[in-house]
Amino acid sequence: MAIKDRIDEVKSKLKPGTQLLAVSKYHPKEAIQEAYDTAGQRLFAESHAQELVGKYEALPKDIKWHFIGHLQTNKVKYIVPFVELIHSVDSEHLLAEIDKQAKKVGRVVKCLLEVHIAEEETKYGFSFDEVKALYDSNALAKYENVEVVGLMGMATATDDKEQIKHEFEQLSSFYHSAQLTFAPKFTELSMGMSGDYEIATLLGSTLVRVGSFIFGNRVYN
Ligand SMILES: *Cc1c(COP(=O)(O)O)cnc(C)c1O
Repeated sequence: MAIKDRIDEVKSKLKPGTQLLAVSKYHPKEAIQEAYDTAGQRLFAESHAQELVGKYEALPKDIKWHFIGHLQTNKVKYIVPFVELIHSVDSEHLLAEIDKQAKKVGRVVKCLLEVHIAEEETKYGFSFDEVKALYDSNALAKYENVEVVGLMGMATATDDKEQIKHEFEQLSSFYHSAQLTFAPKFTELSMGMSGDYEIATLLGSTLVRVGSFIFGNRVYN
């Protein structure tokens, strides 16, 4: 199936209010250009800073680039001048660095806090309690060049649909209660990947991050 057909298929399954973020990491510029030309896709995501910078420089400037991978503080400066949304803020230390670099280039960079919802131990992210504590302490107020607009989460890598549903439900309900209480500015709930975006959109995801279903398997080298 062509990239356009894949994109159309994903979009046909999304509820109103869910946007498709095409995850192009490890795929060549030509695949992104094809999605841009044939499907009108403008929202793409990468997970490595250097790869993102290279693609940003080579591809049309009306693409909105999101960053979804684990971000090292020493790489922040490369992406801050142009990145639209960083999904993967997993520490206050990283937030402070994004703020510092954003100030230098005169931008306010939108970010999501990554919340750990999967059972795997190795995934990065805050717990629900840590997110709440960050707001209760008013720690975010000092970062004037960062705007935290929501949450991102990854479900456990499992075929057990009930477990995935349960994890997304927990994230979604935390997100909505945060919105009503301590985080009224939340507008984005980033959850759902190739294997579970249909569950995520039903549970209120605003951004599904779909890679391999659209572009095929990634070749790591
Ligand atoms: C790679 C990646 C995706 C896309 O995964 P697919 O299974 O290929 O759709 C989504 N989110 C994050 C954080 C990723 O690193």
